Amino acid sequence: MNCPKCSEQELSSQGLRGIEVDRCSQCQGVWFDEAELGRLIDDQAVGGRSLGGRDSGLDRHPGQCPRDGTALLRVYSKWNRSVVLDRCPECRGVWLDGGEFQRLNP
Ligand SMILES: [Zn+2]
Ligand SMILES: [Zn+2]
Repeated sequence: MNCPKCSEQELSSQGLRGIEVDRCSQCQGVWFDEAELGRLIDDQAVGGRSLGGRDSGLDRHPGQCPRDGTALLRVYSKWNRSVVLDRCPECRGVWLDGGEFQRLNP
């Protein structure tokens, strides 16, 4: 699987608190499959409110799901509103940019 943010970078499997996640060595982002995320972060922490497609931010072109290529939706975390996650509407996997996981799980 390729990193949704760094187009040419392969994700590598890595253990994180006892489960396997896919991590990008370049941007330090982490991909969680739906089942994996639920085991690390209460699913409630991942908001349902989409920010919509237009975001003025510096931050990027929208990512694409590394599993199925679907455009990721940007959603707020319910736990920490300053954390914006990218969620796949198709497989419900979630991408956290480098450092975001730590901000949800201090
Ligand atoms: Zn990356
Ligand atoms: Zn997907």
